[in-house]
Amino acid sequence: MCGKRPSTILTDQDHAMAAALSVVMPETFHGLCTFHIRSNFMKHLGNHYKENSDLPYMFGACMYEFEEVEQFNRVWEAMVKKHNLENNEWLSGLYRIRDKWARCMMKERWTAGMRSTQLSESLNAAIKNHLKLDHDLVQFFRHFNRVVDEKRHNELIAEYEMRQNLPMVGLRQTPILVHASETYSPTVFVAFQNEYGESTAMIILRQQDAAMIVEFAVMRYDGGPERIVVFNRNDLSVRCSCKKYENEGILCGHALKVFDTVGIKIIPPEYIKRRWTKRARAGECFDRRRREVVADPKIMISTRYRELAPAMIKVATRAAMSEDTSKVAITVISDLAKRVELLLSESEEQPLQNQKNLNMEERDKVEIVNEMGEAVVVRE
Ligand SMILES: [Zn+2]
Repeated sequence: MCGKRPSTILTDQDHAMAAALSVVMPETFHGLCTFHIRSNFMKHLGNHYKENSDLPYMFGACMYEFEEVEQFNRVWEAMVKKHNLENNEWLSGLYRIRDKWARCMMKERWTAGMRSTQLSESLNAAIKNHLKLDHDLVQFFRHFNRVVDEKRHNELIAEYEMRQNLPMVGLRQTPILVHASETYSPTVFVAFQNEYGESTAMIILRQQDAAMIVEFAVMRYDGGPERIVVFNRNDLSVRCSCKKYENEGILCGHALKVFDTVGIKIIPPEYIKRRWTKRARAGECFDRRRREVVADPKIMISTRYRELAPAMIKVATRAAMSEDTSKVAITVISDLAKRVELLLSESEEQPLQNQKNLNMEERDKVEIVNEMGEAVVVRE
């Protein structure tokens, strides 16, 4: 992975994977998928709670809500006692590995905000949609490639739209929001904007100065937990006790409140994770032998073809409605063809019909649309 090890791997509590990860990737944090833990909870403890029982809520709070270890331990002990679970082996075993799934134990671990194996599960589901039991290995890989190509195509469209449209910024006079809108991808910008909104609800309870270090106690105006934000005047760094930045890579409302207080009006570069920016895919990538990884030209050609073909067919469908429009279309298409050939002869790219690399399967999958934009033929 470009010479880097993953910081975190989430699994579904598979013992063989746990053993292998501790040997092969000892520096990588191994977390457990909370979706699978909840499923196992129902399997092992389903008979322990009746209607209106607070057992699942107490368990869920221990997993997702508590940020402090003391709070987690207090509620866990109360839950075990109240529901007579002292001798439940599954629950005792889960408690022993709480550093892999309890929020309070994981808040300093980088997870990009994920707590489950959602990404691999959604890929599994997408592949299953294209598979049948009687497919052989070649058919499997053909369908697998289609799923991967489809995902890459969607990614390209999302990237194109992101470059064309800036997200709506409610407060155009707020420099840090404008900076965030120009920097982050649309999804991350919304998350950042929410944190900025939170920061406006924060108050500073007290402030302690010690040379270059300033310690702020920050809390929401209407209550909630108190957070300690440590600001360093020397390097303008900030650390909040909620650990949102360490965990998700987005500054929290507490830290943004302190930045605003000390007069920092744009996001300092060291707090911009490249993976959350519009430039996440830019730059060079090397494999483990230090060879540069380049984008697959076949995918680029078929992606462009998929965008162009329906547009051209749509024009042809409309132009065919009358002789005049048909003549105009032929003249324009003839000029267009000459310009395309000229440009191709000037560049290194070859004309489409001579491209041996063009994936014919991809071409055959293209939808033909009518003038209303509806699919009328799907070549398969
Ligand atoms: Zn915070």
